Amino acid sequence: MNLLEKALEYIFLPNCGICNKLGEGYLCKKCGKELYKYAIFLEGTNKNGTYKDEEIEKLHIFKYKELVRKLIITYKFNNKSYLYKTFCEFIVKNKKAFDFIQSYDIIIPVPIHKKKKAKRGYNQSELIAKELAKATGIEMNKNTLIKVKNNKVQSSLNKEERKNNVKNVYKLIDKEKIENKKILIFDDIYTTGATIEACIKEISKANIKQIGILTLAKD
Ligand SMILES: [Zn+2]
Repeated sequence: MNLLEKALEYIFLPNCGICNKLGEGYLCKKCGKELYKYAIFLEGTNKNGTYKDEEIEKLHIFKYKELVRKLIITYKFNNKSYLYKTFCEFIVKNKKAFDFIQSYDIIIPVPIHKKKKAKRGYNQSELIAKELAKATGIEMNKNTLIKVKNNKVQSSLNKEERKNNVKNVYKLIDKEKIENKKILIFDDIYTTGATIEACIKEISKANIKQIGILTLAKD
């Protein structure tokens, strides 16, 4: 946290991102309990991983339904960017999630196209990844994997269309920045895995040590 952020936090006491309650950080006890009902902390491996055909470690924090679904949609589309602090606070308080993140060197958020970022004002995954990196002491890298094509929104497509829709839309640049590192890819929602698979395919062009997947929610 830099000096400006500290000063701002002093002036504007953090409030709960869900109910606005003051004095209990970005997630109050009551909302934390409510959120916990949707927490799955689901670990596993992604056997279809394109990374040297190895199994890829993954962790999903929430089940994508009801309150969590509502919050993520609000976060992405209703200009409530501050919710990233609430999500992050919940994630890093869980030891399993904290240790999982910390076992990597670099966290890479799934990029969005610059036109979309300009329209929304932020990349929702980047804000969370940045905060998670800060909390766990790892590095966040948003410049090595970029999105070069402004494709259709995945949620409007079926499984087969999703695969085709993400073909050749991500590009790896400056690959030496991630070489010999353990890379964790972060995305907000995991549905068919097509988006993350496409990112892994690009990232694997670099000679990396290990690759993992972290998502806020699983559909
Ligand atoms: Zn609250």
